[in-house]
Amino acid sequence: FSDPILTRHSLEAVKELAGKFKEETGRMPVFMEVCGSHTMAFAKTGIKTGLKDCVKLIAGPGCPVCVTDQKSIDAMIQLSEGNGRILCTFGDMMRVPGSKFTLMKAKTEGKDIRVVYSPLDSVKIAEENPDKEVIFLGIGFETTIPILALAIREAELKKLKNYSMWMTTKLVEPVLRALLDSGDVKLDGFLLPGHVSVVLGKQNYSYLSEEYNISGVITGFEPVQLLSGIYKLLQLLLEKKTDILNDYTYLVKDHGNPAAQRLMEKYFEPFDEIWRGMSAIPKSGLVLKEKYAQFDAKKKFTVSTGEPRKTKCRCGEIIRGLITPEECVLFGKSCSPSNPIGPCMVSAEGTCAAHYQYMREE
Ligand code: SF4
Repeated sequence: FSDPILTRHSLEAVKELAGKFKEETGRMPVFMEVCGSHTMAFAKTGIKTGLKDCVKLIAGPGCPVCVTDQKSIDAMIQLSEGNGRILCTFGDMMRVPGSKFTLMKAKTEGKDIRVVYSPLDSVKIAEENPDKEVIFLGIGFETTIPILALAIREAELKKLKNYSMWMTTKLVEPVLRALLDSGDVKLDGFLLPGHVSVVLGKQNYSYLSEEYNISGVITGFEPVQLLSGIYKLLQLLLEKKTDILNDYTYLVKDHGNPAAQRLMEKYFEPFDEIWRGMSAIPKSGLVLKEKYAQFDAKKKFTVSTGEPRKTKCRCGEIIRGLITPEECVLFGKSCSPSNPIGPCMVSAEGTCAAHYQYMREE
């Protein structure tokens, strides 16, 4: 799927179909890639730049670090300040600025904040430190949420009293509905996330074609897979059809992963989660059910955060596909990967980081 000759042929085939669409409509097709890993892959492979004159690719809200609002970051930093606590999180979260500073700065000031690769590592840390409260900052979409459930199950099995999770998880369907309902951005189709779809399955997206009359193609992350996804969306547009296609069949099944879905249902329930730049979206996140309240850090600890600090960062608009990073006055000037002002420049899946690394004009 990354063969250079096949990639070049696929690119030409996409350009040809996009040309036909432009002849018929007088405009370029506009597709949104929902997933942050797709955003990075489109930039890194040069596909986004290669297609810039014939297909408009807009990054969507699928980067979990980028959509975490500043208030949640402030709460996490405040949580780290209590005595006898160990805070565990994923690496990218360390550098996201809160109102005053980052978790990284809190760590350099002596707070016990640890980067883990899996939530299950944080359970192990709790087991090894019975005299400390261990809190895991649980962010992520449906790809990660089943693993959060596994961590809670592990803590439950081990009867841990010193383990809890601060959850700011996000769900794909409510945010796509919110984007489409807002009418802020006009789209001709979605490139649907490969990883999330492994859990959700193809059928989960039927609302897009049935209720919103818009197509989606589930696709992988290699150049030929990315181009195949765009090609299929263009075919559907030219044939004036609306459908959900699965172009990642060897990993994504029609009904997804029922075991992972059952795990999520067992431990979590829907919650009106706050998204950066979008405020609260009904039932767009998951929190622990009351039965598991002993593992809920939001119930275990009191945190009081003020209003988020106003900055010129426009991540909120970027994750809704309203602007490109180059339209932010801070891009490449005061904001860069070595000095990120917003999460879209911090995250390995962030749109600003992708543009800075692979698409910036010197
Ligand atoms: Fe925010 Fe920096 Fe992106 Fe501007 S360039 S939107 S400040 S992350």
